[in-house]
Amino acid sequence: MIQLQNVTLTFPDGESRVTAVDNVSLTARPGTVTGITGPSGSGKSSVLAVAATLIRPDSGQVLIDDVDTARLSANEATQLRREKVGIVFQQSNLIPSLTALEQLSVMNELGQSHSRRNRDAAAERAGVLLQAVGLQDHRDKRPHQLSGGQRQRVNIARALMNDPSALLVDEPTSALDQERGASIIELILQLTDDLNTSTLLVTHDLVHLPKMHGSVNLVDGRITAPAPAIA
Ligand code: ADP
Ligand code: MG
Repeated sequence: MIQLQNVTLTFPDGESRVTAVDNVSLTARPGTVTGITGPSGSGKSSVLAVAATLIRPDSGQVLIDDVDTARLSANEATQLRREKVGIVFQQSNLIPSLTALEQLSVMNELGQSHSRRNRDAAAERAGVLLQAVGLQDHRDKRPHQLSGGQRQRVNIARALMNDPSALLVDEPTSALDQERGASIIELILQLTDDLNTSTLLVTHDLVHLPKMHGSVNLVDGRITAPAPAIA
């Protein structure tokens, strides 16, 4: 579960500061997708960065599975992120020289002991996840051999390598046509259900919102339409 309570985040802006997130509270429960919408510059990516514990807010609380992240040391926060948070950034950051399978299994090399058993387990999970995102026949392809939609599927699968309880996805459809975009949203809904993640999904495309379990709309960092209660 992800909980943001009265989160405010500002950035320096010349002499003063710009308020990117203004007193935002939201809850994302396991097995549900909460949409975050709003115009460009309204604070959507900032909300995700705070929820991912990549940026500490000026004030307010961020709880991941009931752990108050403000109480963690930098090392503990890194550990929590590694174990509990999967992030799909707006800009795809696949490594050009690696195959789809390697994009995923390389996650295992980050900050863990590289025993043969770990490596085999990571390769197996990578294969399972590529299958889950429909890329079982493309595992040996490099990014330039994949379409935009397929690259986005690799990004999503990679974010799930560590079996996160929180999945944070930033505008996954922005570079895709309507049909491919809709199938990416369907995939995220399906994976959220299958893997029981608490998912925050940023999108400016309102057509996808009815399929989600709730949504918030941001304007100038503030929530203007509260998310419907999730039973
Ligand atoms: P969105 O994702 O909705 O387009 P952002 O969260 O990226 O919005 O940005 C919200 C506001 O915060 C904007 O005014 C933006 O210019 C500002 N902002 C975002 N990131 C930074 C940063 N690293 N430094 C300074 N200002 C930032
Ligand atoms: Mg953004």
